[in-house]
Amino acid sequence: MIKDYPPEAKFLIEHDKNIMGHIPEYVLQEMTNDKYKKFLVKHTKIPEELFSSLSWNLFAEAISRLNLAKLLPVLKFVNNEWCTGDKMEKYYKKSPSCPMCGAREDLKHVFSCNSPRAKQTRNECVYSINKILSKSDDEISAWWCSIINGCFVSLGASPVENSSLPGEDSYVLASQITIGPLHLLQGRLHSAVVIHMQQMDVNINKQILSLHLLWKMAATIWRTRNQALHGTTKSERDFKKKMTLDNEILMILSLLRSNQLPHRTVPLGYSFTIDSKQAWLRWEKMSLQAQNITITNSHDIGEYTHATSTLNLGSSSQRTRSRKCRITRQVNCK
Ligand SMILES: [Zn+2]
Repeated sequence: MIKDYPPEAKFLIEHDKNIMGHIPEYVLQEMTNDKYKKFLVKHTKIPEELFSSLSWNLFAEAISRLNLAKLLPVLKFVNNEWCTGDKMEKYYKKSPSCPMCGAREDLKHVFSCNSPRAKQTRNECVYSINKILSKSDDEISAWWCSIINGCFVSLGASPVENSSLPGEDSYVLASQITIGPLHLLQGRLHSAVVIHMQQMDVNINKQILSLHLLWKMAATIWRTRNQALHGTTKSERDFKKKMTLDNEILMILSLLRSNQLPHRTVPLGYSFTIDSKQAWLRWEKMSLQAQNITITNSHDIGEYTHATSTLNLGSSSQRTRSRKCRITRQVNCK
């Protein structure tokens, strides 16, 4: 079986089966593989009867030409394995909200979020796809961008600026939509799209490039979303992490207080390290558990969100920092 994998995939399989999981087995083999079809029906919701309408050859060829660095992220994307909000909620009981607009996030939402930042990212991506493809052919470039735009709109996104849309009567777009507009962005094109490309004399290399550009666009959109979620720099990420931990600390603290339990110095505020916050939480949760006190994640969290957000956690001067320490100490002395 392994001999069917491209050389890049062998490396991954030998070094860490867990990371790749089931992905390469199904994807890198024959695209008509029954197991992979079943996998797609389950995970990407392609109606089984539409399998033959898809251009599997182009999809397979485009995947096989990826280098190792791009292979894994692309496979994760095309197999719907991004950890979007809905999955974070399902598997980790985290918030399912889009970090840019607050709506419930699923894969579809990632590509149709109408927050200013998401819109701007789509504009920039389509602009750069147009720029690359129009080097050799303006007509094809404009057409391909209009199809992408049409898929975005069909998902619920507002139209990309400075890019046209296919006419209402576009057979090509309508065909793709029968399978699902998201599948185009993932590289699963309806045969009508590919036939149209051939009629426009788009050679195979350029067809593959068109798919690679889609995946690159998806990666950019996903990166923007992740930056909104985690912050762009380390200090921004730390800041968010500390805010989240502070919320949890306040929640535990209120439990400790309402049960009149003694506790360690409360590491609230930006000047405390993430480690010290986590250590405090571990310790005090143990102490609650020892008293058979149930910790529920939703406990009073809303009430404290406002309280923490007023703390000047970011660029606190020495003065505000020492004042906060004093507050902390008071909390502890009580
Ligand atoms: Zn959103």
